[in-house]
Amino acid sequence: MGTVTAADEKRVLDAAPHQLFIGGEWRDSSNGKTLDVEDPSTAETLCAVADGTPEDAVAALDAACAAQASWAATPPRDRGEILRRTFEVMNERADDLALLMTLEMGKPIAESKSEIVYAAEFLRWFSEQAVRIDGRYAVNPNGSGRLLTMKAPIGPCLLITPWNFPAAMGTRKIGPAVAAGCTMVVKPAQQTPLSMLALASIMQEVGLPDGVLNVITSHSAAAVTGPLFDDPRLRKMSFTGSTPIGKMLMEQASKRLIKCSMELGGNAPYIVFDDANLDEAVDQALIAKMRNGGESCVAANRFLVHEAVATEFAARLSEKLGAMKVGRGTEEGVQLGPLIDAKQRDKVAELVDDAVGKGAKVMTGGETVGDRGYFYAPTVLSGINPDADLLREEIFGPVAPVATFSTEDEVIEAANATDFGLVAYLFTRDIKRAFRVSEALEVGMLGLNRGLVSNAAAPFGGVKESGFGREGGLEGIDEYVTTKYVAVDL
Ligand code: NAP
Repeated sequence: MGTVTAADEKRVLDAAPHQLFIGGEWRDSSNGKTLDVEDPSTAETLCAVADGTPEDAVAALDAACAAQASWAATPPRDRGEILRRTFEVMNERADDLALLMTLEMGKPIAESKSEIVYAAEFLRWFSEQAVRIDGRYAVNPNGSGRLLTMKAPIGPCLLITPWNFPAAMGTRKIGPAVAAGCTMVVKPAQQTPLSMLALASIMQEVGLPDGVLNVITSHSAAAVTGPLFDDPRLRKMSFTGSTPIGKMLMEQASKRLIKCSMELGGNAPYIVFDDANLDEAVDQALIAKMRNGGESCVAANRFLVHEAVATEFAARLSEKLGAMKVGRGTEEGVQLGPLIDAKQRDKVAELVDDAVGKGAKVMTGGETVGDRGYFYAPTVLSGINPDADLLREEIFGPVAPVATFSTEDEVIEAANATDFGLVAYLFTRDIKRAFRVSEALEVGMLGLNRGLVSNAAAPFGGVKESGFGREGGLEGIDEYVTTKYVAVDL
């Protein structure tokens, strides 16, 4: 997409649905209220969407339950074809979908477009997996009979997604749920409902039967999801979001033992040994840190760099980050957009101030930018005190703290000294060390000499307080099926 005009913005906003999607119908909220959607680069209201109520959420679950049996009986090939067609339409309309996402979320258009392509990739992947959900026929070890296992869709699901990747966090759940034959109620983040509504509209257009996918937007996530947790018809909840909310939802789910998948927060160490290719380590750091403006669960949160190369690494990284163009995501050449809201920007500023107060040196950035919207400058900090809060908390912003280490044992201990365990990045050219350290790190994913791990064909997920369950890969479908075993007597 070339230069974005005000007319382009109006066109995509007007074309995007703004209502609830229940049972194949677009409806206003049952109380007629709406919820404003803000442009984080200007803090101005873009448009309003329906502000769903608990009654609307129950109606959405009713629709999902009504569609469950026929959807489960729909041939896997047909379910897969719907995903495949959605993948194709998303790619055909990637420019408009990217603009819509940039307007509500803030990231530069090019990044939004990458997310649309990445999000669609989950649908292609699971369109291929829909026809590969199979069981097993085995001889009983004692030879006396046969052990048959079969897979069935788990049933109606509640899928709750965050604002940072408004499309991909949805398709990572919707793709396998649709492929497995489950119906669902999706609750997108209130800051970014438009991308999810646009996706629902495409799925309707390509022939997804009514009731399979239902979308509830609301200003009160707790109010609309609460009744669903109490409903015995709900069989599965998949959540992507912060660890504290994830823990609360698990408590709610425990009342009815609803099966959960939890994609929660991270605190990724980015480890650079003195034998690493430093050019590569710096280039990949830009991706690991600055993709999505640092508002990513897999963002490098702590740079742990060997003392022999730390000064050089920090200098090169600050040169690159300091040169990044900050601005509204729709402007040409912009590499860093705003943070999602004032709360997030203020949290980033507080973490930086805390680190600086404890002795960190600002190599570049370290301040908010402009007086409109929620911008924070790309920032590199060195000389980090081990007590700095940003070594323990998820920064979720464009801030790179560089700390040093001297031995392999020391860096493994430091990397694992966190409650989180989503991803780590490791840079070394010593193959033995690469495997030794990979095995010792307590994470669900690891980037070995690369700063990007996300891939629809790979299992995404964490350990410790980063959650459990996997999205994508061969494992992704497992979250949406149950295994039934039949003891066969011949
Ligand atoms: P969040 O505040 O936990 O919200 C996530 C979703 O949960 C939103 O849809 C939110 O709705 C909803 N929610 C909030 N409170 C709820 C409640 N009481 N009951 C039911 N739903 C509730 O997280 P966020 O700030 O949007 O996202 C950032 C977090 O997500 C970070 O911690 C990040 O690491 C994590 N994340 C993890 C992964 C992963 O795969 N591991 C991927 C991306 C992001 P509202 O918008 O209405 O509040």
